[in-house]
Amino acid sequence: MAAEIHYQTIATLAARLAAGELSAVELMQAVIDRTRAVDDRVRAFNSRDEADALAQAAASDARRSAGEAMGPLDGIPVALKDVIAVEGQPLTASSRMLADFVSPYDATVVKKLRQAGAVLWGRLNLDEFAMGSSTENSAFGATHNPWDLSRVPGGSSGGSAAALAAGEAIATLGSDTGGSIRQPAAFCGVVGLKPSYGLVSRYGLIAFASSLDQVGPFTRTVEDAAMLLQVLAGHDPLDSTSFTAEIPDYRAAVCAGPRSRRLGIPKEYFGAGLDPEVAAAVRAAIAFYAAQGWEIQEVSLPHTEFCLDTYYIIATAEASSNLARYDGIRYGHRSQSAGDVTELYEKSRAEGFGAEVKRRIILGTYVLSSGYYDAYYRRAQQVRTLIRSDFLRAYEQVDALLTPTSPMPAFRHGEKADPLAMYLCDIYTIGVNLAGLPAISIPGGFTQAGLPIGLQLIGRPFREAELLATARNYEQAHDWHQRRPNL
Ligand code: GLN
Repeated sequence: MAAEIHYQTIATLAARLAAGELSAVELMQAVIDRTRAVDDRVRAFNSRDEADALAQAAASDARRSAGEAMGPLDGIPVALKDVIAVEGQPLTASSRMLADFVSPYDATVVKKLRQAGAVLWGRLNLDEFAMGSSTENSAFGATHNPWDLSRVPGGSSGGSAAALAAGEAIATLGSDTGGSIRQPAAFCGVVGLKPSYGLVSRYGLIAFASSLDQVGPFTRTVEDAAMLLQVLAGHDPLDSTSFTAEIPDYRAAVCAGPRSRRLGIPKEYFGAGLDPEVAAAVRAAIAFYAAQGWEIQEVSLPHTEFCLDTYYIIATAEASSNLARYDGIRYGHRSQSAGDVTELYEKSRAEGFGAEVKRRIILGTYVLSSGYYDAYYRRAQQVRTLIRSDFLRAYEQVDALLTPTSPMPAFRHGEKADPLAMYLCDIYTIGVNLAGLPAISIPGGFTQAGLPIGLQLIGRPFREAELLATARNYEQAHDWHQRRPNL
C-alpha cells in the first residue's frame, strides 16, 4: 500500500520529513495539487491560501536545514473547520453573518499547532454555526461525500471529514457539540475523536453551545489522532473550563496497547431505526473483541431516550445566548436598509442567519424565557445529570463502550428535509457530549453500496489514552482505514 503522498499518515510523513526523503514544500504542493484536482467536486473548503501554506512549509524546511529544534508536526498540513480562528484569515462559520469577517487573533489550538510546526492549511465547510448533521446548512453550498458525491459527508464538520477522505489534507480539526466530529468521520471513513470536555481549549472556537463544544482531530489512523491530541490537549488560562491535570504521552500509551479489556454494549443503542448493515458491522466488531479475549458485557444507559430532547433544550438555550453577539454593530453582517437601531438589529439578523440557526435561536430563547425556564431548561439540566450518571454507573463494570456512531450510513443530499429527521442522526453521539466524555469514531466496514460505516468507542472521562488504545486494537486487525474513495 504505497499510498500517494496526499493519502499518507502523519506518522509516516513525519518520519519521511525527518529522514529528508521529502520536503515540507513538496508535501504541501502535493496536497495543493490534489485539492485543485478534486475540490471542485468535493467542495470541502470555504477558503484556502496556497501562498501562505507554501510559505509556512518553506519555513519548516528552513528550520530543518538549519538544524533547529523541530516540532512533532513540523511540515504537516492541517486544515481547520471554519469556526477556528486563525489570525489574518477569514473566519465565517459558513454563515452570511460572518462572510467578510477576518480573525484578529489565533485560537489556542492554532497557537499550539504553530508551535508544533504544523502548516495551517485552509478553512473547511460546515453547517452554519455548526448546527446540523449534513453540511447542507452551509450558506456557501453543500460539501459532497468523496465516497459518493450524491451523498452528504455528515456534519456539522463535513468539510473536515470530506477533505481528509479526499486527500486534501493530512489531518483536519473539527468541533463536536452533539456528534459533529464523530458522525462525519463515520460517513467519510476516517477517524474522528471528540475529547473529554475541558481537555482541549475552546479559546478562539466560535461558540455554539459552550457547555458541550469541544475541538478535536480527524485523522487517518488512531496513532495520528494520538499525535494530534498530544499537541492540542492541555490547560489554557484563557478557557475557564479547561482541565488542569498532567497530559500523558498518548502515542506511547496507544502503541503500548489497552490496559484493561472489559467492553460494554449499551442495549439502548441498538433500537429501531438502526440500519441493518451498520448493526451487522457493530456486531462483527463485538465478535472481534470477544475473540481477542475481551470480556463483553451488556450494560444499560436508561436515560438514553431523553438525550435528544435534553440536548435540543440545552444546546439551543446556549446558542441563543452565544449568538446574541451578532447584532450587525459589533460584528457581522450589517443590513443596509434599516431605518433605526431596532430595525438594524432585526434586519441584520434576519438577513445574516439561515433558517436552521433562526430555528435554534427561537427555540433557545423560548426555553429560557420566564415561565418556561423551570419547565424546560432547569429540567433538562437535571436530566443531563441523570444521563451522565448512567455512563458513570456503566464504568463501574466496564472500561469502554462500543456502539454504532450513526444509525445510518451517509444519506443523499436533500433526503432529510425535515429537521426532526436530521436531529435523529445524533441519537448515538449526543449522550457523550451531555456527559462530557471522550469518544472516537473509527472505520468499521462498508455497506454493499460501498459507503463507510463508523464504530463508536466511548471512554472514561480524561482517559483518552486508554480509549485510543482500545480503538487501535480493532484498527490494527482490519484494513478499512486503508481504503480510499474512487475520486
Ligand atoms: N447535529 C447536531 C446539531 O445539529 C450536533 C452538531 C454539532 O456537534 N456541532 O446540533
